[in-house]
Amino acid sequence: MLNYTELEHDGYWNVKGGMYKITETIVDILKKRGVRFHFNTEIVGVETVGENISAFIDQNDRKWTSELYISNSDAASFRGIVMGRKSHTAQKLDAMKWTLAPFTIYLGVKGKPDNLIHHNYFLGSNFKEYADTIFTSTQSPEKPYYYVNVSSKSNPASAPEGCENLFILCPVPDLRHKTDWSDAKSLAETIITDLSARIGYDLKANTLTQTILTPIDWEKQFNLYRGSGLGLAHGLSQVGGFRPSNKDEVFSNLYYVGASTTPGTGLPMVVISSKLVTERIQKEHGTL
Ligand SMILES: Cc1cc2nc3c(=O)[nH]c(=O)nc-3n(C[C@H](O)[C@H](O)[C@H](O)COP(=O)(O)OP(=O)(O)OC[C@H]3O[C@@H](n4cnc5c(N)ncnc54)[C@H](O)[C@@H]3O)c2cc1C
Repeated sequence: MLNYTELEHDGYWNVKGGMYKITETIVDILKKRGVRFHFNTEIVGVETVGENISAFIDQNDRKWTSELYISNSDAASFRGIVMGRKSHTAQKLDAMKWTLAPFTIYLGVKGKPDNLIHHNYFLGSNFKEYADTIFTSTQSPEKPYYYVNVSSKSNPASAPEGCENLFILCPVPDLRHKTDWSDAKSLAETIITDLSARIGYDLKANTLTQTILTPIDWEKQFNLYRGSGLGLAHGLSQVGGFRPSNKDEVFSNLYYVGASTTPGTGLPMVVISSKLVTERIQKEHGTL
């Protein structure tokens, strides 16, 4: 592997010219509007008075008081793990249908492989059999199907000159089915070797930076239940009125926003969910 630590430390591959700019810009706008951010603060419990939440409690036992509370944590697992609801015990959460768990590789690559475009899918010929078994298997896939996004093909500013920025996403079993991810490096190697052969470019020899995230990392970093990447799935029994509501069943000052409440998962839906909950709070509390 080549040594390219300067760029790695600079955070170039993930930040400059990339998607993260959207986050930075939103944060700037909100700061100007007086919003204060407290990072590294995980809400692990609540205090209540009658039909109201009186405080959110973080991992350091600090209490956060407010008139209204909006949780952007997974709306199903928050009810179970943080609120201790019998309707959302681990057993009941595990019985629900969850979206795929991601195994992701971020590669900074020297050179410009010709046979890649912005969006690329690398699949096999047994799609149905693969899709039927992959999500409930206890093993990593032997011949993985995966998606490759090369944002630098459309936005050259997201990689240094003469380089490419690869994001590889392989759907894998979530942590209900496969808890041990000590084989992460070998799965990454399988994917990179396969991809190199398919595009006729030695990615391994040209790798400048590499980061691997398993479902365990996704669960830890974002509190994604069992590492499920997009939260609750959209089966008939988990949409509309059957999906966890954006208003708490018990507490009148607690609301939910995000993928596992209404209307559903994915960025466009999540943006709509924030609009819906804002309108609901305005209607019920005349504020926000
Ligand atoms: C690898 C991957 C690829 C994806 N690709 C796409 C795509 O191409 N298109 C698309 O539309 N969607 C995609 N998605 C899905 C999309 O990212 C999600 O649906 C969306 O980000 C969910 O938004 P959210 O606000 O509900 O949750 P998040 O974006 O997960 O934000 C929730 C925030 O709350 C924090 N949090 C959680 N619990 C607590 C707690 N107890 N206390 C304090 N903070 C907490 C988390 O740390 C996180 O910062 C992808 C997801 C993944 C994982």
